[in-house]
Amino acid sequence: MKRMQYERPVIQRLNVGVMNKFGKRTEYAPVTHIDGNSVKELLQKYGSPLFVISEKTIRQTLRDANRAFKTRYPKVQFAWSYKTNYVNAVCNVFHQEGSWAEVVSGFEYSKALHNGVPGNKIIFNGPDKAEAELKLAIENNSLIHIDHLDELYLIKELAINAKKRPKVAIRVNMDTGVYPMWDRFGFNYENGQAWDAINKIMLNDTMDLVGLHSHIGTFMLAPSAYGVAASKLSELALSIKKKYKKNIEYIDMGGGFASRNTLKGSYLQGADSSPSFDQFAEAITTAILNAGFVENELPLLILETGRALIDDAGSLLGTVISNKRLADGRRATIMDFGVNVLFTSFWYDHKVSPAQEFSQYTEDAVLYGPLCMNIDVIRENITLPPLKRDDNVVVHMVGAYNMTQWMQFISLRPAIVMIDMDEKAHIIRNRETLNSIQGDEVVPKYLKEFKL
Ligand SMILES: *Cc1c(COP(=O)(O)O)cnc(C)c1O
Repeated sequence: MKRMQYERPVIQRLNVGVMNKFGKRTEYAPVTHIDGNSVKELLQKYGSPLFVISEKTIRQTLRDANRAFKTRYPKVQFAWSYKTNYVNAVCNVFHQEGSWAEVVSGFEYSKALHNGVPGNKIIFNGPDKAEAELKLAIENNSLIHIDHLDELYLIKELAINAKKRPKVAIRVNMDTGVYPMWDRFGFNYENGQAWDAINKIMLNDTMDLVGLHSHIGTFMLAPSAYGVAASKLSELALSIKKKYKKNIEYIDMGGGFASRNTLKGSYLQGADSSPSFDQFAEAITTAILNAGFVENELPLLILETGRALIDDAGSLLGTVISNKRLADGRRATIMDFGVNVLFTSFWYDHKVSPAQEFSQYTEDAVLYGPLCMNIDVIRENITLPPLKRDDNVVVHMVGAYNMTQWMQFISLRPAIVMIDMDEKAHIIRNRETLNSIQGDEVVPKYLKEFKL
């Protein structure tokens, strides 16, 4: 009889948490500091909850993106997408690094001017540009990206009256193989609307067509879609050259690169599944370089990258209010920040780290915000060490869209602090006050008094 081989027994520790090949793991390490600043001290000084922005991370991320594109293409320009985060200090870090401004409303346009961005380095996008705003943009030589024919004709009229040639581009939407297709902004490529708009500008000589623009979507996970878009815009530019002997000065590829956040329902963590700047850059620059431009007529490549440049740099610090058991036995932890200030929790499973030491034990929990509304859920299901009242947490990668889409609802919005390159903290937006919120309210005189 064949002897069985002896295998010595092994005792292996199983950690509960997300599965890996050894079983479950605790993926959490406490995050006690952000860029050298103690989380607890920041909360004591500026109040809880608190947004914190790392200037170092912004600059590093932008430099990384610039490197990816500039090593592949000779002329590259980033323009900061204001709607992604238009806190002025944040915008100015981007401007100090050389980014122009990309705005989508008159309000954002004013903000960019106020920050000191020269008019000719502001890209004015969006479907709703009021006549007065267009006049100002023409006056300032801003780059006006036309969204629809009504706007095209209005700009023509303003140009004739102002005796000035506006600098314009058209926004082009197209089939890039990613669905649903964003076809509500700009002129469609496949059905000929884009070429029609180009002819309407070129054959009626009142404005300078300087660029072609597309913004194909947001949180895009397929670099190839940008390759398709860049090919189609290049083809339009070359057709303009052929028909009108005119060089298009720039191709603007818009924004939309995915950040490293994890989309809800995604199997892989965002950090593992989102393409890198190098992958997006490779797809875009390969398409333009191979399109057929002669060397000294290559267009400037503009990028309006938003979320991928700022998500990592933002954190939200908060405090535990309470714990309870739900009817089904699950642990529920209530935080002092809700979906009104963390708008992106509707789309992302934000990573949350405890801000103090904890034991190895973890438990599945639901993280709720403090709003008196059932939808106020920060994480539907998260494995965390049990947190107790007054413990602190850090929510990671919240730099994009939260500080612009946040809602003032039943309480005051938190302060925002920026940690500079020398790890010094600066307040860049004060916590709101009753006055800052009701300053614009008016109570008619007859309603001022009452007796109860
Ligand atoms: C919102 C927007 C951007 C930025 O998009 P991200 O997905 O955050 O990169 C860029 N360009 C235009 C026209 C936009 O509307």
